[in-house]
Amino acid sequence: MFQTSRPRGDSPVSIIGAGIAGAWHALLLADAGRSVTLHERSDAAMTESTSHWAGGMLAPWCEAEGAEPVISRLGIRSLDLWRQHFPKTPFNGSLVVAHPRDRADFERFARMTSGHRRLDAQGVRELEPSLEGRFREGLFYPDEGHVEPRRVLPQLHDAITRAGGAIRFGSDAEATDLDGLVIDCRGLAARDRAPGLRGVKGEMIIIETSEVELARPVRLIHPRWPLYVIPRGDGRFMLGATSIEAEDTGVSVRSALELLGAAYVVHPAFGEARIVELGAGLRPAFPDNLPRIRIEQERITVNGLYRHGFLLAPALAELTLAYLSRGEIDNEVMQCA
Ligand SMILES: Cc1cc2nc3c(=O)[nH]c(=O)nc-3n(C[C@H](O)[C@H](O)[C@H](O)COP(=O)(O)OP(=O)(O)OC[C@H]3O[C@@H](n4cnc5c(N)ncnc54)[C@H](O)[C@@H]3O)c2cc1C
Repeated sequence: MFQTSRPRGDSPVSIIGAGIAGAWHALLLADAGRSVTLHERSDAAMTESTSHWAGGMLAPWCEAEGAEPVISRLGIRSLDLWRQHFPKTPFNGSLVVAHPRDRADFERFARMTSGHRRLDAQGVRELEPSLEGRFREGLFYPDEGHVEPRRVLPQLHDAITRAGGAIRFGSDAEATDLDGLVIDCRGLAARDRAPGLRGVKGEMIIIETSEVELARPVRLIHPRWPLYVIPRGDGRFMLGATSIEAEDTGVSVRSALELLGAAYVVHPAFGEARIVELGAGLRPAFPDNLPRIRIEQERITVNGLYRHGFLLAPALAELTLAYLSRGEIDNEVMQCA
């Protein structure tokens, strides 16, 4: 880290975009006593945001299988911030299992990641009784957590208001119309300012059944995508997620078959579940799939959270605050124009 000159500490801050990046920025800045207004062009349901479609896994150790070390570093810091600001966040860990034919990939996953314990069939059963007899072994990552994006975004928005920040839904903001410091958290809509930004499609399905109970996300090793089943409460489960270089938001038959097939491998009773919803979100990503905080005078752009928005947003917001308060620059994610 090094230090640089920065916008005045008492200038008002406008944040554009109330998805997971903008919401965490607004919360930490309002908590720090800054005058914050968060602008969101859609309504409070946030159905236009990528964040609405996310799994909400807070899994820095599992993600290390395919991501750079900076994702784990920031992700592990974010877990502390989730705990601190939302003490009820479930930290029940994550369970990784595999179909016997994918055993080699399971071993590779174990080698590429840390922070796990190996479980035998009995260990899997003790952790998730519904999975009794389903898997001979598993990997348990005890310190990971998960949030329900559609519940936690409104909670974040409430927390911002309680901390003294203002939120304007239905406000299609333009940075040049706003006074003071602007933090641009528009996700994929920020392409005009973020060259190379692209959308990576993630398809998901929500199903409902009372036949299976899970206490934590269960990841199924899959040769193409990290597929998972996340308990959402009230008998609902999210099945996710594909990762496709495409920018439409349709769900293909092939993807639906793969997602539903994964659930069926985890537990055949999912075969009787009711399909509640199919949908897709576009993950905002730079060519290297790493996040960036770009600093230009009175404008800061936070983007490229890719498949790690819920995992990274608290730590990124903390870095932005450290820059504004003390001029600190994190060389791995910050760029100064
Ligand atoms: C299927 C799927 C599963 C995922 N699972 C996980 C997971 O388990 N864990 C994890 O950490 N991440 C996950 N992700 C990734 C995560 O969803 C993204 O990284 C994150 O949502 C990006 O957040 P964001 O705030 O940058 O963008 P967004 O959530 O898209 O928010 C940007 C907001 O800006 C608003 N906006 C745009 N332009 C304007 C304007 N001019 N004025 C006002 N508002 C504007 C938009 O309406 C939008 O609400 C998943 C993604 C998908 C698609």
